[in-house]
Amino acid sequence: MNKLRLVPDFDLRPYNTLGVPARSRFGVVLDDPAVLPELFAVAAGRALPVRVLGGGSNVVLSPDYYGVTVLVATRGRSVVAAGPAGTLVEAAAGENWHGLVEWTIGQGLGGLENLAGIPGTVGAAPIQNIGAYGVELADRFDSLVAFDTASHQMRRFEKEQCRFAYRDSVFKHERGRYVVVSVRVRLPQPWAPVLTYPGLSGLDPAAGADARAVMEAVLRLRGSKLPDWRVTPNVGSFFHNPIVTSEAAASLAAANPGAPAWPLADGKAKLSAAWLIERAGLKGFRMGPVGVSDKHALVLVNYGGGTADDLLALADRIKQEVRTRFGVRLVEEPQFI
Ligand SMILES: Cc1cc2nc3c(=O)[nH]c(=O)nc-3n(C[C@H](O)[C@H](O)[C@H](O)COP(=O)(O)OP(=O)(O)OC[C@H]3O[C@@H](n4cnc5c(N)ncnc54)[C@H](O)[C@@H]3O)c2cc1C
Repeated sequence: MNKLRLVPDFDLRPYNTLGVPARSRFGVVLDDPAVLPELFAVAAGRALPVRVLGGGSNVVLSPDYYGVTVLVATRGRSVVAAGPAGTLVEAAAGENWHGLVEWTIGQGLGGLENLAGIPGTVGAAPIQNIGAYGVELADRFDSLVAFDTASHQMRRFEKEQCRFAYRDSVFKHERGRYVVVSVRVRLPQPWAPVLTYPGLSGLDPAAGADARAVMEAVLRLRGSKLPDWRVTPNVGSFFHNPIVTSEAAASLAAANPGAPAWPLADGKAKLSAAWLIERAGLKGFRMGPVGVSDKHALVLVNYGGGTADDLLALADRIKQEVRTRFGVRLVEEPQFI
């Protein structure tokens, strides 16, 4: 078992894709889940709160955290079982998500290709049920193991227990209670591509478009639509697409011809947050060191020197404008922690 090492005054600026200044009273690089019981016992003994960080690509970090930040850096991925029900692949929480996608495709296993290029770790993927280009994690998820900070036991969660929904899971509602340690995905056998997203519909499996070709098309789409966080720090989509009643969607469309709305099964409809922000005239809008990307209206960027407070103020301004103009309430996607 590796030893627990608490590093004081830990600088987290390099560990968040928004590049905001952030320090933690202590930081721990977690490369062995076996230290988790000791870690939580030590923190409780010193009355320090604990929070978990993966790749820092879906958080807005507070400048000073008086607690312990756990940086999940565990490694390992393997094929656990293969059969008619699919191939079961397990990965440690600290593995890079896109690295896992590439690795499975390298093993001849399709299924994750639409989720290629999403930054961050495997362990964070279930937290908001990551999704892109017609597929979400729940479509491929089998189970996970998490450390329960209440009982100090490892616990397996089957898919139904995770209560996955649009960018949501039980882990968002029981925030801080579980540390995801490993995730299992079930990759379909035989593989069939998901090409429902308009930008992918031109790919033809009969003409040799395999999982790798879909992954490469997804990466091209992402590169053309989203600002690169390494160049212009960001956390991807800053707001959820709002879910409203179908009546509310119809009255929005009546007043604003062309407003996108996707009907959902339960008499509700999903609106486009990007469209609402752009139509509110905020694409490219800047507020000091932060602003709305001129490449994609859903992405807030840090042009340099921006802090969590700057982003909070910008997000509030956007929410206010969209509410006043369209009567729609936007909800932030990243966690402010
Ligand atoms: C350019 C860009 C594009 C993006 N595109 C997409 C996209 O297409 N689809 C999408 O869904 N998301 C997207 N995202 C958001 C982000 O990449 C995902 O939400 C990703 O899963 C976050 O992973 P992370 O490791 O960086 O999590 P972090 O940001 O480190 O953490 C996110 C949350 O999960 C918690 N957490 C992290 N690891 C664990 C763990 N092991 N156990 C328990 N809790 C944990 C944290 O406490 C925090 O609350 C994008 C982000 C960027 C920067």
